[in-house]
Amino acid sequence: MIDGYCQSGHYDIAFHLFEEMKNSDVEPDEMILSTILSACGRAGKLTYGKAIHDFIEENDMVVDSHLLSALIAMYTGSGSMDLAQQLFDKTSPKNLVVATAMVSGYSKLGRVEDARLIFDQIVQKDLVCWSAMISGYAESDQPQEALRLFSEMEVSGLRPDQVTMLSVMSACAHLGALDQAKWVHLYIDKNGFGGALSVNNALIDMYAKCGSLERARGVFEKMPRRNVISWTTMISAFAMHGDAGNALNFFNQMKHANIEPNGVTFVRFMDEIELGEFAAQQVLELEPDHDGALVVLSNIYAKEGRWEDVGMVRKIMNNSGISKQRGCSRIELKNEVHEFLMADRSHKQADQIYEKLDEVVREVKRVGYTPNTCSVLVDLEEEEKKEAILWHSEKLALSFGLISEKKSSSIHIVKNLRICEDCHTFMKLASKVYDREIIIRDRTRFHHYRHGSCSCKDYW
Ligand SMILES: [Zn+2]
Ligand SMILES: [Zn+2]
Repeated sequence: MIDGYCQSGHYDIAFHLFEEMKNSDVEPDEMILSTILSACGRAGKLTYGKAIHDFIEENDMVVDSHLLSALIAMYTGSGSMDLAQQLFDKTSPKNLVVATAMVSGYSKLGRVEDARLIFDQIVQKDLVCWSAMISGYAESDQPQEALRLFSEMEVSGLRPDQVTMLSVMSACAHLGALDQAKWVHLYIDKNGFGGALSVNNALIDMYAKCGSLERARGVFEKMPRRNVISWTTMISAFAMHGDAGNALNFFNQMKHANIEPNGVTFVRFMDEIELGEFAAQQVLELEPDHDGALVVLSNIYAKEGRWEDVGMVRKIMNNSGISKQRGCSRIELKNEVHEFLMADRSHKQADQIYEKLDEVVREVKRVGYTPNTCSVLVDLEEEEKKEAILWHSEKLALSFGLISEKKSSSIHIVKNLRICEDCHTFMKLASKVYDREIIIRDRTRFHHYRHGSCSCKDYW
């Protein structure tokens, strides 16, 4: 009876019946306890699951491996990983299902190091286990590790399923690496995943976030069937790239196709006169950062030279354990992602990169660039500020791109913070001097620099 209610998802009735059973003279056995425990895990009923755990201990019941597994699964399912770990340490040998539950429990909480510890101990991993680990990395800001693990899984001979591929696409989107995105797309087509609606929706999103609006649109146009998510993703893509005309155009087309805009997003979209803000929200969803508002505030004060206020905001940030994120820019080259921090000299071609940067600075100065030190946050001497601003990570990434990429190709950079005013001007002028398209994804939107101007029309 209890089993039946659990299987049909009527947990409340099942729990109620179990109480009745305890009050009667019938002793629950391990079977029924396992059943009810896994129901607790699925329903996230930790208090109830713990009560059953206590009941088992109070009644000195024999905890066989079956029951132990059920207890661990219950704790992982309700996110109590420390309790789960205590029990897991007692099991031997570790069985695959339980170990996988541990991996996915940790992954869901973003505790990827803990998940990895267990993952590495599992000798015979199955697809569920690999997928849990890959998704853990994809969702917790380690997209490169997610992709690395995916190729390891491939080498091990396991075939991914749709769930794995969705994680891989999410990792690519996060990373913003277009070449890898193209590779994933090919892989998806070759392995027959391309027909699924959710896969196509994820492809649109991935291409948009990797800077290729054309490819995103290409996927959208080819879809035999589209749902509200397909439309929303495509419209967000236009918005993110500053193409307000197409965003509105597609929004109207969607209504013509009799697809109802879904809830919150589009109520906001309709009300939002400023498309920029809508775009910002889209990318912020991608890289949420709780201290974002404070960093922006402190930058505003710094720009106005209100150093006392900057100090105050900094204090709030320090007190709450928030520190200003370090600026970091990524650029992808031949399937490899290169990362630069500000004033970074760790790259093996650092000498060439700085030499190139000197040249670029000379060239853009000839067409009117002067370092704009207003955006330098710290209270440095004027000369030091000039140096600091010239070494911003995106300028280093650009210089590297200029020496490494073919003349005809555009340069794609992903920056974790908002691009500063000085870099924005710098990129516009560089796109003109070198006659190159430069595409930068910053925290809030995409900037396409071409012939000396930017697609954001200097609103960002
Ligand atoms: Zn900058
Ligand atoms: Zn711009």
